[in-house]
Amino acid sequence: MSDELAFKTVHELWDMIFDEYIHPKDILESCRKNHELWEKEIGINAFREAYHNDARITAELDFLPSGFLAGLPFAHKDNISVKGRGTYCCSKILEGYIPPYDAEATEKLLAAGGTIIGRSNMDEFAMGSSTEHSAYGPTKNPWDIKRVPGGSSGGSAAAVASGQAIFATGSDTGGSVRQPASFCNLVGLRPTYGRISRFGLVAFASSLDQVGPICRDIRDCAMVFSILAGHDERDSTSATSMVGDPLETFEDGLSGLRIGFLEDGLGDLVDSEIRTEMDEWLTFFRSKAKVVKPVQLDTMKYALSSYYIIAPSEASSNLARFDGIRYGPCGEFDDLLKLYKTNRAHGFGPEVSRRIMIGTFALSSGYYDAYYLRAQKIRTRLRAEIDELFRDVDVIISPSSPVLPFELGAKVDDPLEMYASDYFQLPQALAGIPAISIQGGFSRDGLPIGLQIWGRPFDEATIFQAGRAFEREHDYAGRIPVPPSTERGAS
Ligand code: GLN
Repeated sequence: MSDELAFKTVHELWDMIFDEYIHPKDILESCRKNHELWEKEIGINAFREAYHNDARITAELDFLPSGFLAGLPFAHKDNISVKGRGTYCCSKILEGYIPPYDAEATEKLLAAGGTIIGRSNMDEFAMGSSTEHSAYGPTKNPWDIKRVPGGSSGGSAAAVASGQAIFATGSDTGGSVRQPASFCNLVGLRPTYGRISRFGLVAFASSLDQVGPICRDIRDCAMVFSILAGHDERDSTSATSMVGDPLETFEDGLSGLRIGFLEDGLGDLVDSEIRTEMDEWLTFFRSKAKVVKPVQLDTMKYALSSYYIIAPSEASSNLARFDGIRYGPCGEFDDLLKLYKTNRAHGFGPEVSRRIMIGTFALSSGYYDAYYLRAQKIRTRLRAEIDELFRDVDVIISPSSPVLPFELGAKVDDPLEMYASDYFQLPQALAGIPAISIQGGFSRDGLPIGLQIWGRPFDEATIFQAGRAFEREHDYAGRIPVPPSTERGAS
């Protein structure tokens, strides 16, 4: 069995530390036990590198760390820089790279008393939706180890879902926080673009990338969000707007809110069990909210193609800097061009190579207008259309994913199928608006289903408020996966 303590939320543990004198070392020990079971015995591969048994981590907890996070262990995605710790983006080309500085997100979480418990597994350079594109092997979903945990922050989500960490960080360029959260029965927030500094986050597509928390419930998510959010002059796209207290209206309920219910027009392209849950959501919101109305987003059907031009275009430029000379797979060569070619060919996996090729093609003269420019026009139109929708509603509800967590290997050789699973997560990324995935139910086979709430720019608080009203009346958030029987688990 899993050890229970590590399945509590940050706010529950905070109370236990200060009221019941539980020591953070007890919590670390609980994460360590779950690590032994899930990572070592069952082998879900949530971490590229884990520190559960690192004596330094235990020693750091000799004194109760001050700050909101009180020493609590969190899984840190492998693309967020940590001074003195490997940050490989789960790519061979960055193997051996030890950043000389902390990302802003790292600095803030450490300053708040958090303990980094490992570098979580991810799709290489955050390109993917299943964590199968990691150079360190795929991560398995604790809810069904034959299935993917989602991606690209799949290691982060699997680490929390299996009780190896209390919460985790992810990055969301086009769904990578929300989709794994939904596949692993967790809460994942993509904040408004500019809310959380990108300083020290290894760039994939700079106009889309955002750091976001993956947590057990919405209160934790709002708390970790408020630690991470705020202006940073080291990121030129960092917003200056006030963050405020995201929990101020947390328990205010739905009676003052106008809800838009997305009519996706996808018919049976959305899994029938997700459709069944959607009907339940609609009934729930209708019974509680001030207004519930159907909303359509005409440009949404082009969001997938627009994203899969813009993101690879930016990636092809951002990844041009990696030559494999200072770290990565450097061989001996007398010819510089040959060295670049060989290092890049061996250093990048097939999905990253595909993105670099698509992006380079889309930006090349002669094709720029036909692809990149058109994709940007769609992005502008989509934003305008979303702005328009938010005149009449305060939040929009949709599924987080059109599909249930799929089997390992089912989509990995079919990039278009894989990309299509991102359908519900790309409009918010392109428009720069915040969105959260919360626990929305389960399929007949016990697979998690995510409910997504989109909000106005810089209005994360209303998303938390609407989500909390749903969470309060459903018991999905507290459920944890049962480990498949192992020798120890069965005994
Ligand atoms: N699945 C999307 C992609 O492959 C999004 C990834 C992300 O958000 N980092 O690009």
